[in-house]
Amino acid sequence: MAGPKRNIDTSVFHRAPKTKLRTAVKGDGPYILDDAGNRYIDASGGAAVSCLGHSHPAPIRAIQEQATTLAFAHTGFFTSNALENLASFLTSEAPGNLTRAYFTSGGSESVETALKLARQYCVETGQAQRSRIIARRQSYHGNTLGALSAGGNLWRRAAYEPLLIGVTHVAPCYPYRDRGAHETEADYGLRIADELEAEILRLGPETVMCFIAETVAGATLGCVPPVPGYLKRIRDICDKYGVLLILDEVMCGMGRTGTLFAYEQEGIAPDLVTIAKGLGAGYQPVGAVLASERIYEAIVEGSGFFQHGHTYTGHVTACAAALAVQEAIRDENLLDNVKRAGSWLAEGLNMTFGAHPHVGDIRGRGLFWALEFVADRATKAPFDPDKKIAARLKATALDHGLICYPMGGIIDGRQGDHVMLAPPFIVDDGHIAEIIGKLEATIKEVLKG
Ligand code: PMP
Repeated sequence: MAGPKRNIDTSVFHRAPKTKLRTAVKGDGPYILDDAGNRYIDASGGAAVSCLGHSHPAPIRAIQEQATTLAFAHTGFFTSNALENLASFLTSEAPGNLTRAYFTSGGSESVETALKLARQYCVETGQAQRSRIIARRQSYHGNTLGALSAGGNLWRRAAYEPLLIGVTHVAPCYPYRDRGAHETEADYGLRIADELEAEILRLGPETVMCFIAETVAGATLGCVPPVPGYLKRIRDICDKYGVLLILDEVMCGMGRTGTLFAYEQEGIAPDLVTIAKGLGAGYQPVGAVLASERIYEAIVEGSGFFQHGHTYTGHVTACAAALAVQEAIRDENLLDNVKRAGSWLAEGLNMTFGAHPHVGDIRGRGLFWALEFVADRATKAPFDPDKKIAARLKATALDHGLICYPMGGIIDGRQGDHVMLAPPFIVDDGHIAEIIGKLEATIKEVLKG
């Protein structure tokens, strides 16, 4: 009898069979080194994770000390100083009435947790008929089934559709493609936000539990900040119909856009915010949900506790690492550098690629930027997806010693091409120049011009 068919080259299930990955062996500030001695400037922090670079002493020391003293204690039995201190730090920094923190192991778990908190809040407040979730097209909220259901990224959802819960989707805020020729940004924002109101009315306001959106759209559309006024209008609509607002800041939060929380710049606060990635900066897998006091009180005064939990909820070493990361950002004034280096990056991108025939849009905020590639700047027509532009840019960039993150929304039913840049908060002007120079060489090679 034939043995099992082997179609992968090692026992790891993480990648497509023929993908040859380089082996990372060392981190050095904003650089990663591989086992062949190549050095890569990490201009995307993986996927907007490594905000302190790869060898910052603060989280390394915190991990060593915490693991030596107490690596783990189950939150069903104990709390810990690391967990309590991180919760105090985050809730005291978060504008709005976000007074309670719930810790997870990453972004998808944070989104699942936020959705379940929203549901339990509705049940505890006598609104059990509220179970509907509204999200946005072209969004990404994670890969677990609940988070994937919320997401509007069609190709990620396709294989799993029968398993996904029924979420309806409204338009994202995507002015490059959707703003009318004679529409102001403000009018566009109001028009797009009003789609949410129409959807709430269509579903029946008393049945809608929450609206979830990324404050700055990250992983699918590529670093699209909301137009001014859009999120204010969204907040008003949610309030009008008693719908909870969840902002997903897994990618854009924790300083990435220049303020600790991206929503601060919009003059509003959500009822729940999800964070991860930059929270632990890659030193430990950790995420969190911050919840308003109203949600907390409804649950503790109702059935008494949140019906949820994972083994690694509030993992002690992960919390210690995250606290050290956040204290380093505060103590080293790194948010000032996000703004400073972010403006160099924006200027460099606009100067270098602003007139490029295949760069349709350059957008972002802080140290969170993306380029959208097009076949034709005038018509904004995307490239033929078979050309795999974003994937080739990623691969060629690696050959040039640059890590940038490829992605692409669906444009006219076809996969578009974006590249995201999210360098660490410690970058200086030399690093920014290196990133732009290597990106220019990469684009030249892939697009031959
Ligand atoms: N939400 C957003 C906005 C994200 O960008 C991501 C990850 N790219 C997630 C959720 C899921 O996070 P994780 O991969 O840590 O599960």
